[in-house]
Amino acid sequence: MPACLTTRDIRGRVLNSANLRPTYDAALHGLACARCGSTTGLRPGGYAYTLCREGGLLGWPVRVCGACPAWGHQ
Ligand SMILES: [Zn+2]
Repeated sequence: MPACLTTRDIRGRVLNSANLRPTYDAALHGLACARCGSTTGLRPGGYAYTLCREGGLLGWPVRVCGACPAWGHQ
């Protein structure tokens, strides 16, 4: 399977806010890389989304680490 399909990149995905893994929660708050979970060399890396209880989408500006590409989420 191509590597691009096995990374857990949360950017551009809609996550269920009622069932968030702790690693996803950290990434949503910009505390960890949105692709690999690293916390070093973080820089702006696009957006992830959670589904609101009311049915709307909430956008989160997420970050990626120095080792991960900032592109590929659109
Ligand atoms: Zn990374």
